[in-house]
Amino acid sequence: MSVSAAADRSVCAPLPVLGRDVLVPLVTGGEAVYAALDYAASAPALQRVWDDVAAYAPYYGSVHRGAGYLSQLSTDLFENARSTVSDFLGCRTDDQVVFTRSTTDSLNLLAAALPQGTRVFVFETEHHASLLPWERRADVSVTYLNAPRTPQQAVDTLEQALAAREPYGPALVCVTGASNVTGELWPVRELAAAAHAHGARIVLDAAQLAPHHPVDLAELDVDWVAFSGHKLYAPFGAGVLAGRADWLLAAEPYLAGGGASRKVARRTDGGVDVEWHDSAARHEAGSPNVIGAYSIASACKALTEAGWDTLVTREQELIDSVRAGLAEVPEVRVLSLFGDDAPRVGVLSFVVEGWNSSHFAAALSAEYGIGVRDGLFCAHPLVRTLLGSEPQEPGECGAPEAAPGERSLNAIRVSFGAGT
Ligand code: PLP
Repeated sequence: MSVSAAADRSVCAPLPVLGRDVLVPLVTGGEAVYAALDYAASAPALQRVWDDVAAYAPYYGSVHRGAGYLSQLSTDLFENARSTVSDFLGCRTDDQVVFTRSTTDSLNLLAAALPQGTRVFVFETEHHASLLPWERRADVSVTYLNAPRTPQQAVDTLEQALAAREPYGPALVCVTGASNVTGELWPVRELAAAAHAHGARIVLDAAQLAPHHPVDLAELDVDWVAFSGHKLYAPFGAGVLAGRADWLLAAEPYLAGGGASRKVARRTDGGVDVEWHDSAARHEAGSPNVIGAYSIASACKALTEAGWDTLVTREQELIDSVRAGLAEVPEVRVLSLFGDDAPRVGVLSFVVEGWNSSHFAAALSAEYGIGVRDGLFCAHPLVRTLLGSEPQEPGECGAPEAAPGERSLNAIRVSFGAGT
């Protein structure tokens, strides 16, 4: 069925969304649905997050910049958010929590802070946010590791690559906690142990892990962790980089400006001397996104109070039921790197034999009001490996235009979480 045929068969009705009428498809029976099964891209805000943000918004003020009550209040909320996130992540005493814009921003910040000559090890299966920032540093070398087909193979591949490295300088491993394509969990603890055994450090891309599982830096023994608020039910434009202070505080500030600088003075030779902060503020130049930080803290509290055991159990039920449904359709092939039984979070990608993925996704939206994502998910090498063939050339991270009826070599992704 083509998209237009799907659209013709559905009945659309105007539904007020954010003050304007939006055409929303009605399923048979007339009930309006517009379910976004696209949490891996961006998850809806938790009610608690909306409520907290709405309660605070009238009292918004500048952070670290004003003497007035609103400014003091906002500064307190911002710094309290930092300690809430620190608790949520099980940070160690000396760890820093830096508020950023997103996971992408956090990993680019860390890349900018690497000591000269660092060797970076990264699996080709990573999201582009963890695959690409390192090569931008001309004085850093990157070793791309082949896609493993089991968690143990991932550890062995890393071990071998680290053992072969010469000379023995600073090294960083970057790894995802849960894949944004397959949802599969990576053996983070074991990879961290391997990294440390070879004198390397490790950063965890927890963009897809943090919304679904507890992430504890001390327990996982990772050096840094990065995640995004908008995937953690807090879509207000902030992210986090947390972890070891030494490289972060030895590095030049990520951005130069007010907030990062403690003291600035003209020199007698006409130049300017700057003393930078030796705390997270060093990398937070400019007026910070206090609502973003506050919303992340609110989500951290809400998830902790809901209880991870409850959330993980509920999400597993959802995963099992989606898998069981997909298993009933012979044309569907669920994509997996580590095998069908591998533990995963609520993220599943699949192909449907005979269907173009973008048409299939459009039909799900037009006919059933179900929003999913199709394409290559900003993880082109991984999707290529999973499909076992060259996908069609995409625009940016999405799906390419394909002729009607043409079979797609790209994938469809459904993603969800137990938080909402
Ligand atoms: N890492 C993973 C595993 C992701 O899934 C994503 C986003 O989908 C990112 C990093 C980048 O996150 P953001 O777009 O919030 O920077």
